[in-house]
Amino acid sequence: PNELTGEQTKAWLLAFADRVIKDADELTELDRQAGDGDFGWNISSALKRARTNLEGENPAEVFQSVSDTFLASGGTSGPLFGLWFGRLGAGPSAPWAVSDLAKAFDTATGAVRRLGKAEVGHKTMVDAMVPATEALAATETRSWREALQEAARAARVGADSTSGMIAHRGRASYLGERAQQVLDPGALSIAWFFDAAEGV
Ligand code: ADP
Ligand code: MG
Ligand code: MG
Repeated sequence: PNELTGEQTKAWLLAFADRVIKDADELTELDRQAGDGDFGWNISSALKRARTNLEGENPAEVFQSVSDTFLASGGTSGPLFGLWFGRLGAGPSAPWAVSDLAKAFDTATGAVRRLGKAEVGHKTMVDAMVPATEALAATETRSWREALQEAARAARVGADSTSGMIAHRGRASYLGERAQQVLDPGALSIAWFFDAAEGV
C-alpha cells in the first residue's frame, strides 16, 4: 500500500488529463493575458494523445509513455513537460516508494530548470515544480498518497506566488509589469498535476 503502482500512475495521469481538458480555457485565458494564448490548447492536445497512449507496468514506464507525446507537441511547454516526464521515466522499474518519488522528481525538476534556465521567482512552471519537489524530499510520511498531498499543497502555494512576479522567462517576460498580476499558467498546471493524485 505504500508503493505507487503503474496502474495507479495511469489513474493519476488520466485524472490530470481530465482536469486540464475540462479547464483548458482557464489556462488559455492566463496565457492570453501574459503570452500568446495557446497554452490550454498545447497541453490539452498533448494530454488527449497521451491518455490514448498510456502504457507501462510501473510508474517509470507510464511517465515515459507520456513524455513521448509531449516531446512531439507544440509551444515552449511541450519540450519542458516532455523532459520532465522523460526524466521521471528514468526512475526505478518497479512500484515506487516515497523515496523513489522524491528522487525521481528531484532529477526531473533539475532537468527542467537547466533546460529552461529558470529558477524560483522567474514566473514559470518551475515556481510550482521546485516546492513540490522539496516537499517530497522533506516529507516524513511513508505513504505516497500523503506525500503527494503535501507536494500538491506546496505546488499550489508556489503557483499562487507567481501572481505578483515579473516574469524573467517565456513570453510573459516581454510584457514585464503589464503581466505582473497574472498567474503563470504553467505553474497552475503543475499544481493540478499533483492535485490529480488525490482521487487515485
Ligand atoms: P509559448 O510561449 O511557446 O506559447 P506555452 O504557451 O506552450 O509556450 O507555455 C507557456 C508556459 O511555459 C509558461 O506558462 C511557463 O510556465 C512555461 N515556460 C516558458 N518559458 C519557460 C522556461 N524558460 N523555463 C520553464 N518554463 C517556461
Ligand atoms: Mg503560449
Ligand atoms: Mg505559443
